[in-house]
Amino acid sequence: MKSIENILDQSLFSKEDLIALLNSGEEDRLKLFQKAKEVKAAFVGKKVYFRGLIEYSNYCKKNCYYCGIRAGNSRYARYRMTDREVMEAVDYAFLNNYASIVIQSGEQANKMFVNKIESLLKKIHRQTFGKIHVTLSLGEQTEETYRRWFEAGAHRYLLRIEVSNPDLYLKLHPNNLSHSFNRRLEALKTLRKTGYQVGTGVMIGLPFQTISDLADDLLFFREFDIDMAGMGPFIEHADTPLYQYRESLLPLKSRFDLSLKMVAILRIMMKNINIAATTAMQTIDPQGREKALMVGANVIMPNLTPVKYRQDYLLYENKPCLDEEAEECKSCLEARIHMAGDTIGYGEWGDSKHYVDRSKPVANDNASA
Ligand code: SAH
Ligand code: SF4
Repeated sequence: MKSIENILDQSLFSKEDLIALLNSGEEDRLKLFQKAKEVKAAFVGKKVYFRGLIEYSNYCKKNCYYCGIRAGNSRYARYRMTDREVMEAVDYAFLNNYASIVIQSGEQANKMFVNKIESLLKKIHRQTFGKIHVTLSLGEQTEETYRRWFEAGAHRYLLRIEVSNPDLYLKLHPNNLSHSFNRRLEALKTLRKTGYQVGTGVMIGLPFQTISDLADDLLFFREFDIDMAGMGPFIEHADTPLYQYRESLLPLKSRFDLSLKMVAILRIMMKNINIAATTAMQTIDPQGREKALMVGANVIMPNLTPVKYRQDYLLYENKPCLDEEAEECKSCLEARIHMAGDTIGYGEWGDSKHYVDRSKPVANDNASA
């Protein structure tokens, strides 16, 4: 069997290598983290980029078995932010030099929604003089919708594959066309074709999920050649069908540790992509995001959603910062990031270097490989 040093010295990991890294014990895990830290410093630097997160609406037409705001859950009051509220959040981001925002929402695809997002994108572009880069996380849409939003000013899109094993996907979603694995995959391909910087990711510690599945997820990211990743632990929600499996889940701490390993391994595998330190990590460990930054993540998403809506955007339970206004959130984050030894890339778009390199003319490709 190869030692962890031997594995980490290679330029390409096999599935067996990935499984060994994911199973690594206390000592080996530290070697993995150290290597990821070095790769991060060498390839993306010690700068962390902020993406102000706007949780635009919790209306959702889907019924994913893991998610608290699924259509079938009647516990939450459904909301949609007004244009004014969105623009106030954008102004906050602009004035505080965030340079980048994420608009996320439950999945809606009706004409009114598509038009509304398009007009908001144009407004954001106009009012910030094109200085704010926008990431969308609005689920599966038609090619035309993706194109319209791209042309209206969106640059990046986050659509998690959730799990790359189609059989497991089927266990986590209703068995119908609007929850089909193939449709999700096609949507990711369409986003790439349209020109977006494409981000995807998975949940870690789901019922029925194995270490072999997680290794396959990492291989999927490499094969798809993603530009950005957002991964985090699965956190059960009492109002969802998956709650019935809570007794069989890994303890929260183990899900967190596995998530850190996934971040670290991915950083070593895909050296110049953007990797988010996700809120779900902070849900389990108050310093979860800083820990993720220390093992390879380089993007963080401070929440700019008006506090009055946050209780109704609970994808999972115990979400942190529910009552923290953007300003408190910002100063607390600054201190935490400096503690993790990083600096903040204020005023910088922080585009995925991977995307930028891939988009260069062919002649330059060797230099960026
Ligand atoms: N509706 C859009 C965006 C909002 S959901 C979409 O589905 O793409 C954003 C992400 O929240 C999902 O991709 C999923 O990975 C994550 N999520 C949902 N429920 C979760 C849970 N119980 N634990 C952890 N993450 C969850
Ligand atoms: Fe809707 Fe996204 Fe939640 Fe699925 S994960 S129910 S699409 S908000």
